[in-house]
Amino acid sequence: MKGKIVVISGPSGCGKGTVIAKLLDRESNLKLSVSMTTREPRPNECHGREYYFVTKQEFEKRIASGDLLEYTEYNGNYYGTPKTELEKAREQGNDILLDIEIEGAENVRRAGLDNLVTIFLAPPSFEELRKRLILRGTESPEVIERRLARAEKELAEKSKYDYVVINDDLETAVDEVYYIIKNK
Ligand code: 5GP
Repeated sequence: MKGKIVVISGPSGCGKGTVIAKLLDRESNLKLSVSMTTREPRPNECHGREYYFVTKQEFEKRIASGDLLEYTEYNGNYYGTPKTELEKAREQGNDILLDIEIEGAENVRRAGLDNLVTIFLAPPSFEELRKRLILRGTESPEVIERRLARAEKELAEKSKYDYVVINDDLETAVDEVYYIIKNK
C-alpha cells in the first residue's frame, strides 16, 4: 500500500504553518516533507526540521543531479522538494504532506503521481491576510508587500486544487483538512 501525497498550498500568512502543525500532532501516520531552500533561517528554525538550508550553489547542484521532485524560485530564493523525502515516507507506509506554493503544486500534478490530493488553504479575505502578515512580524515591510502581491496571484489559482479550505476559524480548518486527508 502506497501512502497518499497531500499537497497544501496557501498564501504566506494564511495560517498554513499552524494548520499543518496541528495536523501532524493529530495524525502520526502523516509526515511532513522537509524542503530545501536558499532563504535564511528565521529565528527558531532548525536545519533539517523546517527546511534544509543550503547555499544557492548547493541547490543548483541538486537541480542538476535530478534530486528534486519539483522546485521553484519564490521571492528571490529557491525552494524544492527532495525526492528522498517522498521515498522515505512511502517506504514507511506514511502519508506525506507537501507544503509548497502554486508552481510547485502544478509541477507535482504534472508528475502524474498516484494517490495525490491537493488542497488550497485560503484566508477569509485579502485584508485579513495583510493583518496576519504584519502581526507575525517576521518579515520586513518590503517583503510583506512582495508576499501580498504574490498572494493575489496565488489566490487566483485556487480553483486548480481538488479542495479549497477557508481558514476563518483555525479548528474548523484543521478538521476540514483532516477529513479530506482521511477520506478522499
Ligand atoms: P516560507 O519562506 O514562508 O517558509 O515559504 C514560502 C513559500 O514557499 C510557501 O508558500 C511554501 O509553501 C513554499 N515552499 C516551501 N517549500 C517548498 C518547496 O519545496 N517547493 C515549492 N515549490 N514551494 C515551497
